[in-house]
Amino acid sequence: MAHDKMTAILSSLEEELITTRRDFHKYPESGWTEFRTASIIARKLADEGLPMKLGKDVIKAEARMGLPSEDLLEKHYQRAQETGGDPEFLPYFKGGFTGLVATVDTGKPGPHIGVRVDIDANDLDETQDPGHTPQKEGFASVHDNIMHACGHDAHAAIGIGVMKLMNRLKDQLTGKVSVIFQPAEEGVRGGKSMVEAGVLEDMDYLLGAHIGIGLKEVGLISSGEENFLATTKYDVLFKGAPAHAGNAPDEGKNAILAAASATLGLHGISRHKGGQSRVNVGTLQGGTGRNVIPGEATMKLETRGGTTEINEYMAGRAQSVIEGAARMHEVAYEITEMGSAPASVSDPGLVELFKELATHQDGFDWYGPGIFAGSEDFAYMMQDMEKRGKPAGYAILGTPLKSGHHTKEFDFDERVIMRGVEFLALGIWKLQQLQ
Ligand SMILES: [Zn+2]
Ligand SMILES: [Zn+2]
Repeated sequence: MAHDKMTAILSSLEEELITTRRDFHKYPESGWTEFRTASIIARKLADEGLPMKLGKDVIKAEARMGLPSEDLLEKHYQRAQETGGDPEFLPYFKGGFTGLVATVDTGKPGPHIGVRVDIDANDLDETQDPGHTPQKEGFASVHDNIMHACGHDAHAAIGIGVMKLMNRLKDQLTGKVSVIFQPAEEGVRGGKSMVEAGVLEDMDYLLGAHIGIGLKEVGLISSGEENFLATTKYDVLFKGAPAHAGNAPDEGKNAILAAASATLGLHGISRHKGGQSRVNVGTLQGGTGRNVIPGEATMKLETRGGTTEINEYMAGRAQSVIEGAARMHEVAYEITEMGSAPASVSDPGLVELFKELATHQDGFDWYGPGIFAGSEDFAYMMQDMEKRGKPAGYAILGTPLKSGHHTKEFDFDERVIMRGVEFLALGIWKLQQLQ
């Protein structure tokens, strides 16, 4: 591939991709409600003339985890209609089927290379600080309690960029290149449903990437064999019995006490000698009034582990602690699994390829393996590829951040978008040459 030609196409795409990213940032949508986002991605790729598989063709209904209520899905579908969602494509995603896969098919024999990007936002309010770039430039989130605070707006733009670039270089490529646009990554809820719908079945390679995560310069690349922590997300409902706190306290069963005891017990779970382990109770809510023994309490927690086994140990211990705390206070409890992802590793050959590209290509630098210490439901996809003996690899694309991931001041250097498109395109190009 003439690198000059690629550079020229990249510059011609830059303005559009930045505008697209800002548009996604302004209208963020959280897991399974990415109606507007998915419909606009589909519109852009349809205008490029690319074949796509949409909604139910790429998402297995029963394998979706942590699906919001039907009411919420409907409400956010309407919001998408009112805020510029594409009317032709919106119906494909209705009901929480907000993923798509687009393909550039050269018609020539060659490998099928997949790239996966995630497109969902986070449940938090964006900062009102007038110095925050999205506020200053007028593209801050217009919705309450939702914001792109992880960079998936950039990922969606990068996915569109890779497809357009590959399509415009089609005559110099072989085989097929697909981009998987995945919903509901936050909370690790969406990857599994696309795997189970079979989107990876004929893919020979799979690449994934995330911006930021501690790599502070644009162009800096990291990838390692040990990528993600395994994780499990639980919602817990403690159900006791309300009673008058003054005249009948002994008749009540205090759900808040059970939840509070469980919280302390959960954070006291012993560490594991075999590797990293984590537990966090992130929310705790309960009760109805000052003078009422609280009859209900709810808790959201997560466990993580350096290996799938260590996470299973943490999750198993968490269940025992919750059960013990509930019994101590004689309340009932329900544990619902809201999401989970295994630990997984990048293929060593792909790590080597990322390293070679980052070391030798202008504008890139190699950081080393790095430590992600997060979880990603890309792990489901990696596992699925591994099962079939096909390589999958994950890279971190550096950018300075104004504030950490999942914080209200989160912001990145937009140059990482074009760098990301370029890096993935170079990776695809290299893999084709290996065939
Ligand atoms: Zn995130
Ligand atoms: Zn993320």
